[in-house]
Amino acid sequence: MTNRIPLMAGNWKMNLDHLEANHLVQGLALALGDAGHDYAKCEVVVIPPFTDIRTVQTIVDADELGIKYGAQDVSVHDNGAYTGEISTAMLTKLGVSYVVMGHSERREYHGESDALVGAKARKVLDAGMTPILCCGEALEVRKAGTHVEFVLAQVRAALEGWSGQDVAKIVIAYEPIWAIGTGETATAEDAQEVCGAIREALRADYGDATAEAVRVLYGGSAKPDNIKELMAQPDVDGALIGGASLKAESFAAMAGFY
Ligand code: PEP
Repeated sequence: MTNRIPLMAGNWKMNLDHLEANHLVQGLALALGDAGHDYAKCEVVVIPPFTDIRTVQTIVDADELGIKYGAQDVSVHDNGAYTGEISTAMLTKLGVSYVVMGHSERREYHGESDALVGAKARKVLDAGMTPILCCGEALEVRKAGTHVEFVLAQVRAALEGWSGQDVAKIVIAYEPIWAIGTGETATAEDAQEVCGAIREALRADYGDATAEAVRVLYGGSAKPDNIKELMAQPDVDGALIGGASLKAESFAAMAGFY
């Protein structure tokens, strides 16, 4: 029996302008309200593009909603001549609770290394927000059967030098690249294999308290149809959800998996 609170995080990626964001968050709040959602049983987080965060903040504050919100990336710099970057201070000022780093799309299109991903996670934790550290293998790695070693190496490289106390505060999202946005979901057993291996690696490196505290999410074509089975796995503590988080009803249904 674990006391980790399940977490459903909706990664909107580069979708929805601020008006559409308004519509989606209102719709989500209504759908969750109608379903009598218990936020103590499952945390609900929306992760919009930077340009929508202020809108989401306004709705959440005004209606005192239980929904939390996050950002999809952050700079490792504090401020200054970094055109296009967003700092942790800018995010905390907007009431952001979670920040994603190391998503496979940023690793692939922006060449982000494990060291940079780890530095971003450190920065976010130091600023009082919760990092959602993404990891996951490409199809060739999965076919070669080396996916577990590959993912553990990514996580360990990003967290090199961290204390167990700090690691205990983060969220890790296992997202096999071949399952992201493809409609191809990893089976619940595939998800458990890697999420369980991540927890056991944390146990080996930092001990039981850290391993039991860290929430490990699965991501990759998670949807209302498969969420129950995924959430039934002992080491899957929630999901990072792309496509299915863009519809209030499907995201709310997933948050109510219990
Ligand atoms: C993601 O990109 O984080 C993701 C899981 O996307 P999707 O659910 O659309 O596969």
